[in-house]
Amino acid sequence: MDIVILLGAPGSGKGTVAAHLSAKDATIAHLSTGDLLRGAVKAGTPAGLEAKGYMEAGELVPDTLIARLVGDYLESNGQLKTVLLDGFPRNVAQADILADLLKRMGHTLRCALMLEVSDATVTARISGRRVCPACGAVFNVNMLPPRQEGICDACGAQLITRRDDLPETVAHRLEVYREQTFPLIAYYRERDLLRTIDGEHGDVDVKCAHVLGAIR
Ligand code: ADP
Ligand code: ZN
Repeated sequence: MDIVILLGAPGSGKGTVAAHLSAKDATIAHLSTGDLLRGAVKAGTPAGLEAKGYMEAGELVPDTLIARLVGDYLESNGQLKTVLLDGFPRNVAQADILADLLKRMGHTLRCALMLEVSDATVTARISGRRVCPACGAVFNVNMLPPRQEGICDACGAQLITRRDDLPETVAHRLEVYREQTFPLIAYYRERDLLRTIDGEHGDVDVKCAHVLGAIR
């Protein structure tokens, strides 16, 4: 299995690009730790109960908790060819945990891909984001509106604003990103694993092509 880490601020488009790539290519899987955690919260599992408060406050959940979930996923999906990691690792401690995990399992870290976007774009994208609580589809009132306002194109459910997308929490998430996740850029650059792509311009297909170019 080859692992590709997607780096980038909240709202940089990591999730959108990864979802498109995995939908188009059956050999590419998308692991979003945010989705994994939201699923655990919804299902009321012990991990979900532990994670809930941190997530609503825009804080990171404990490293050991997320490491366990990611480890379980990799273990039960050993047949996958390429896995795009979206949202993990999110700090240097998690990057070290991931390196150990991959070594133990015999998987390869292909690269860490940074989607570069401006702060202004990040803010506009997050504040406009609306999600479908039923199927997980993501829209944006400014950039990718649903065909009918407030309604999911895919399943017809009523769209919502994620609780952690409310303005106060967004500011805090960006702070957490700058303090904890940003150092990963230097971490992977030092290990000669960092690649950067333009996350600002072009539609999702253009960005997907950039990603494929960088990982193939
Ligand atoms: P974002 O839009 O901020 O990238 P995500 O959907 O990736 O949002 O994550 C939502 C929340 O889930 C985070 O704010 C955090 O509480 C939690 N989370 C996701 N991935 C991790 C991780 N690797 N480590 C700790 N917490 C995480
Ligand atoms: Zn839906």
